[in-house]
Amino acid sequence: MVELVVIGGGSAGVRAARLAAEQGVEVVLVEASAMGGTCVNLGCVPKKLYVEASSFTHQLSEAKGFGWRSSGAFDLNWEELQSKKNAAIERLNGFYCQRLEKAGVVIKRGFARFTGPDTIEVAGESIQANRFLVATGGTPKRLAIPGAEYALTSDDIFRLEALPKSVLVVGSGYIGVEFAGIFNGLGVETDWAFRSAMPLRGFDEEIRAYLLEQVQARGINVLAEQVPQSIVKKGDVKKGDVKKGGGFEVNFGEASKTYDLVLMATGRKPNTQGLDLEKAGVECDSQGGIITDAFYRTSSPVIDALGDVRNKVALTPIAIEEAKCWVHNRVNHSDDESQWLNLVQQQVVTAVFSQPNVATIGLTQAEAEAQYDKVKVYKADFRPLKHSLTGLPDRCLFKLLVDEKTDRIIGLHIVGPEAGEMMQGFAVAIQMGATKADFDRTLAIHPTMAEELVTLV
Ligand code: NAP
Repeated sequence: MVELVVIGGGSAGVRAARLAAEQGVEVVLVEASAMGGTCVNLGCVPKKLYVEASSFTHQLSEAKGFGWRSSGAFDLNWEELQSKKNAAIERLNGFYCQRLEKAGVVIKRGFARFTGPDTIEVAGESIQANRFLVATGGTPKRLAIPGAEYALTSDDIFRLEALPKSVLVVGSGYIGVEFAGIFNGLGVETDWAFRSAMPLRGFDEEIRAYLLEQVQARGINVLAEQVPQSIVKKGDVKKGDVKKGGGFEVNFGEASKTYDLVLMATGRKPNTQGLDLEKAGVECDSQGGIITDAFYRTSSPVIDALGDVRNKVALTPIAIEEAKCWVHNRVNHSDDESQWLNLVQQQVVTAVFSQPNVATIGLTQAEAEAQYDKVKVYKADFRPLKHSLTGLPDRCLFKLLVDEKTDRIIGLHIVGPEAGEMMQGFAVAIQMGATKADFDRTLAIHPTMAEELVTLV
């Protein structure tokens, strides 16, 4: 009987397995594919490398404004980028495995299926355990339209052998906005379709509208309030094979257009299919998400669940925090409830790596006005200094929301370059309960974009 079996080697599973093993627990970690999960292999890490790769075309336009001229061509070697990106990810996979093994975690390769309340089967081996932690993450969802199978998802997009000439990105959540920016920056003719009037549902309304203007100014062709009705394959082309030509005709109802590639970024669902959770008595919601209480306990007394498989906030840093809390409480048997991740106190800070970035913490203006008597809104809408020379239409928006009664900052939203980097430091202050007066008495660093936040009137 193993003490703890962790199913899924993604952000939550790897962290929980390693921390538990470091506390002396006997841990077996089961993973069917590369270690590190979506974030490392098919998400945050390769995506950020693509964002960096695609940002150079904009930087070249900026450089021209400063007098730089290039006499030769500036072309992207896609194969080189792919192979360097793959090597960087393989290094990370190896690093994860080494750290786990050093901590004493036994790694089993294969797909886990429950065969009873406290038993799984992996690659023909039956493993019984005192406790299980399910952290199998999520998987992309496609629209239910004819021809949806011809669209790539974020699981396929990192394996392209060549860049398409034209792409349609569908969906305006994190993945949609980030990949519309990536393809546009890489010089691909980019159409971006989504069902709402504005991207990033759930974000502050003004931030959404501002981002839309900024990405349009960079050349993305926005098809707001348009959703593909069907996709038809033209000729002998295979999904993702952009070298062959032909393409995919997308029907939007009244109009249709042919693209080399269609990317569906239309959300994710919990990855529970095939786990046979019902054999272990674990209840799931209608999306397949494992139902847990606030302490990550499922309907089985020996099975807990963490991360995206719970169908809650799907963000890597949250999965990691959940793992830390779970080990602290469940493994160390600490009854200190303040250690459970409480998303009300622990304000969610997040960045979207669109071009320009969006970063946000706390409430949107609409949420703040619904929850507080009086909200003071401070704003800076400005052109960063460098654009006085570039002539580009790039602008930044900073928006700070303050509860007038306590002077506490209850929301901060940024659209602008490196907004994610900027936000991380401010998030510490806001998490600590910073007031507008605290911001006001902080000296500015001049000249920076971030100084706008401590000089708002
Ligand atoms: P998402 O943020 O949930 O966005 C899904 C998009 O698909 C939305 O635009 C949604 O439209 C649209 N959609 C869903 N069902 C639809 C339908 N039936 N018809 C038309 N449109 C439909 O999902 P995602 O972009 O795929 O990202 C998945 C998760 O990964 C997110 O939860 C995010 O937390 C995480 N992620 C995070 C980062 C980051 O931290 N930077 C980066 C990438 C991914 P509506 O908005 O109108 O509903």
